[in-house]
Amino acid sequence: MRLKNKVCIITGAARGIGKATAIKFLGNGAKAVICDLDDAFVQSAVKDLSEYGEVTGFAVDVTKPDNIRYMVTEVLKKYGRIDVLVNNAGITSDAQLVKMTSEQFDRVIDVNHKGTFNCTKEVVTAMIQNGAGKIINISSVVGISGNFGQTNYAASKFGVIGMTKTWAKELGRKNINVNAVAPGFILTEMTMKMPDNVLDMMKEKSPLKKLGTPEDVANACLFLASEESDFVHGAVISVDGGLVI
Ligand code: NAP
Repeated sequence: MRLKNKVCIITGAARGIGKATAIKFLGNGAKAVICDLDDAFVQSAVKDLSEYGEVTGFAVDVTKPDNIRYMVTEVLKKYGRIDVLVNNAGITSDAQLVKMTSEQFDRVIDVNHKGTFNCTKEVVTAMIQNGAGKIINISSVVGISGNFGQTNYAASKFGVIGMTKTWAKELGRKNINVNAVAPGFILTEMTMKMPDNVLDMMKEKSPLKKLGTPEDVANACLFLASEESDFVHGAVISVDGGLVI
C-alpha cells in the first residue's frame, strides 16, 4: 500500500493512461479523484474503478479554471487535503506545419500546456498549506525530440517539461516534488488514431521492439506519487522502451 489514504487527482482519467493510473493508485490504497470532459463517461469510469477502491469523479474541462476550482473545492470539503496531482489530460491534432491551422495550434496548447498550468495553479495552494505534495506532469517523447506532423503537440509537451523544471525550482522548498513522465508510443485511443504503418515504424525503432501499455506509464506515476521518489525532483522519466536514447 504505497499510497495509503493519499488523495490523488488525475485529469483525463476516464480512459487510457489516466484510467490505468487511477487503477494503480487505488490498488495502492489511494483515494482517487478522476476528471474528464464528459460527465456520462466520467460516471461510467467511476463505476468501473470503484471495484478497486474509493473513487470520486468530476466533469472538468482543464481549459476552464472555474471547472477545476469547483472540483478542488469539493475535494477539499470531502478530504481536507490533496496529496498528488497527475496532469494527464491531453489531445493531439496533427498536421504538417504548412497545413496546420492556427485553431489547431491553439487548441492543443490550450489543453496540454495551459490545462496543466490551470490545474496546478488551482491545486498548489492546498499542497502548500498541507506542507507536502507530488505533482506529476505527463509530457511525451515528442516533448524531448519533436515529431513529424506535431508542431502543436511538441510545443505543448516541451512546454510541460519547462513548467515541470520551473515548478521544481519554485516548490521544492515547500516540500512539493514536481516531475514529468515522457511516454513513448503507448497503446491507447490516442495512438489508435495513428496509421498502422507509423505504429509499426515506432515499434521497429524501439530497441525493445514493442509499444507500451497504459500500465507501463501508470507504474512510473506510482513511483513518482509514492515516498520512494522523495529525492526525485525536476526529473523527466522516459517510459518509451528506449525509443529516445
Ligand atoms: P486518451 O486515451 O485520448 O485519453 C485522454 C483523455 O483526456 C480522454 O478521456 C479525453 O477526453 C481527456 N481530455 C481531452 N481533453 C480534455 C480536457 N480539455 N479536459 C479534461 N479532459 C480532457 O489519451 P492517452 O493516450 O491516455 O494520453 C494521456 C496523456 O498521455 C496525454 O497527455 C498524452 O498526450 C500523453 N501521452 C500519450 C502517449 C500515447 O502514446 N498514448 C504518448 C505520450 C504521451 P475526450 O475523449 O472526451 O477527448
